[in-house]
Amino acid sequence: MRRKYVFSYLLATTLTFTVIVTTYYLQKFHQLKDQVIDQTARQAAHQLEYSEREYLSFRSQFLSIIELLSHSRNLYDYVQDPSNENKRVVEEVWRSVALNQRWYTQIRYVDLQGNEQVQINYYQGNEQVEVAETLYNVSQRDYFQFASQLKENQVGASEIDLQREGGNISVPYQPTLRLFTPVFVDGVKYGYLVVNIDVWYLASRLNYSPDEIFRPELIGENGFYLASGNQSKLFGDLIESRQHYNLAKELPTAWSAMKEQPSGHLIENGTLVVYNGISLTPHQKLYLVIQMGPEQIEALTKRDVSELVQQAVLVVLLMLAFVVPATWLVMHYRKRSIESQLARAALSGMSAVIISDRNHRTIMVNDEFVQLTGLAHYSVTFKNTLAKLLGDKQLELMLEIFEHVARDHYWQGEVLFSKPNSDDEVTAILRIQSVLSKSGRVSYYISSLVDITERKKLEERLRILSEKDELTQLWNRRKFESELSKYAKLVDRYPRQTTCLALLDIDHFKRVNDQQGHDEGDRVIKRVGVILQDTLRDTDFVARIGGEEFAVILPHTSLAEAEMALNRLRVAVEIAPDLSVTISAGVTDLLADRTRSYKCADIALYESKTLGRNLVSVCSSSEEVA
Ligand code: GH3
Ligand code: MG
Ligand code: MG
Repeated sequence: MRRKYVFSYLLATTLTFTVIVTTYYLQKFHQLKDQVIDQTARQAAHQLEYSEREYLSFRSQFLSIIELLSHSRNLYDYVQDPSNENKRVVEEVWRSVALNQRWYTQIRYVDLQGNEQVQINYYQGNEQVEVAETLYNVSQRDYFQFASQLKENQVGASEIDLQREGGNISVPYQPTLRLFTPVFVDGVKYGYLVVNIDVWYLASRLNYSPDEIFRPELIGENGFYLASGNQSKLFGDLIESRQHYNLAKELPTAWSAMKEQPSGHLIENGTLVVYNGISLTPHQKLYLVIQMGPEQIEALTKRDVSELVQQAVLVVLLMLAFVVPATWLVMHYRKRSIESQLARAALSGMSAVIISDRNHRTIMVNDEFVQLTGLAHYSVTFKNTLAKLLGDKQLELMLEIFEHVARDHYWQGEVLFSKPNSDDEVTAILRIQSVLSKSGRVSYYISSLVDITERKKLEERLRILSEKDELTQLWNRRKFESELSKYAKLVDRYPRQTTCLALLDIDHFKRVNDQQGHDEGDRVIKRVGVILQDTLRDTDFVARIGGEEFAVILPHTSLAEAEMALNRLRVAVEIAPDLSVTISAGVTDLLADRTRSYKCADIALYESKTLGRNLVSVCSSSEEVA
């Protein structure tokens, strides 16, 4: 039963905790996706920041290289004296620059008519530099047009383009960014320095990231991809089959945001777009973009969800590890608490309680006990309180109680004791119950005392009322009947012990009533009652059994003694100064047959009346009565 209860309690507690934990984690799960997006966007933005810094440092490198080359002594020498020797010196310098820097795929000098004059090509694959044999006229190319408008020290950048060789796109595709600047010597423009930058190499430096998903893509002003982890997306503007790879078409909202804000992030069609605008030259705008599709976000969320689930499981397990002992503690505490509550309830307000050990040594008593018995807590602790309470006089009763309780583990009965320094007797119902240990041995006794003194007093009063005569406060006829029967039995049992019965009657009482009124009649009856009580022995039984008739039982009294006592009584009434009446009496020795005895006494009384009153007549039990 208890095990079942513990189990249900455990189950309920576990369920409650599990529900709480699950609710908490469900809520967390809902927050998680937003958090993942937010966090990813932040991470991506960090990556872009890094890329931008890289980009800016490359840009300053490019610009200083361009500045260095365009103002170099050997180029000046060549433009002013384009001898083969001067050309070779320039080629040598450029070769070493290309080999060292690695991302200049071409360095050229183009004259004012657009004729390529000096050119070296750098091939990344084999890290070789070749001097170009075949030179072209590039005057029709966009960048040449653009370059011709630049002033001294201005640097221009072309749109990123696929590298061409004599107007044809080189294969494999080589995306290229062209930087150019006019070459002036002493204020005279001679031509242009054009440097091709390997965009892939650049991109690979920009999108360096330890995490694959955070590799930025480079997007040009028209929305086409210039660099991407997925190379088949590149150059939609140049390769027809790739036209659809255009961010402006794929994510128009993101694209317009990118045009307005230099950097930021947003979600379009479930795709997270994080971007950062960069520019190589004031005219040219590029975008570093990190895109993350719904599947990628899902995957990231999943990673975190599984972490969350792991965490939840751990929490539930920890919780269980906590709940089981906690439940035990709670149950234990509850039990203890219930027990102590019960004990307190039993100990307070209800009745006086003594808790004692198996040797009846008191462990504790409650306040009600102290109040009822007048014995202080300290005066009973470790003592045999019951013995103290019942006193030496009731030692026998106490031993009987203990014997009974040892046998039956229970005793109940009335006990009488008085409070210390007081004559007031207390009647209480004592109930002793033993508390057994599992092995059946007595561990404690719990005794309770319920005060019934008041009840007893009331009962006594009621009893007295029913047995006493109201006018004289002597016993009444009912009591007389029962006493007579009791004494008749005693006489039957102890025939040697003579008991006498006397009947008394006030003489001519009618006259008192008639001449002095009923009140005086009552007073006379009362007064005679008092004289009876006072003159006879305490052990004699005196009752008013009729209007002005009395009966007396005189135990341990012979007939002769009784006659003497009654005569004394008769005289006492006769000479009483406040009485003007006499009494007549008839007396007999009591027999087991009380009716016969009563009759006998009545005959004797009648005799006294007829003989002139104020007399005592005897009717011995041995006499023949009618
Ligand atoms: P006798 O000497 O023969 O006994 O004469 P008596 O007048 O005493 O006669 P009896 O015993 O027959 O009358 C008793 C009277 O006592 C009758 C009744 O009116 C009166 N009596 C009975 N009870 C009471 C009582 O309680 N108070 C008063 N005042 N009178 C009572
Ligand atoms: Mg009478
Ligand atoms: Mg009378």
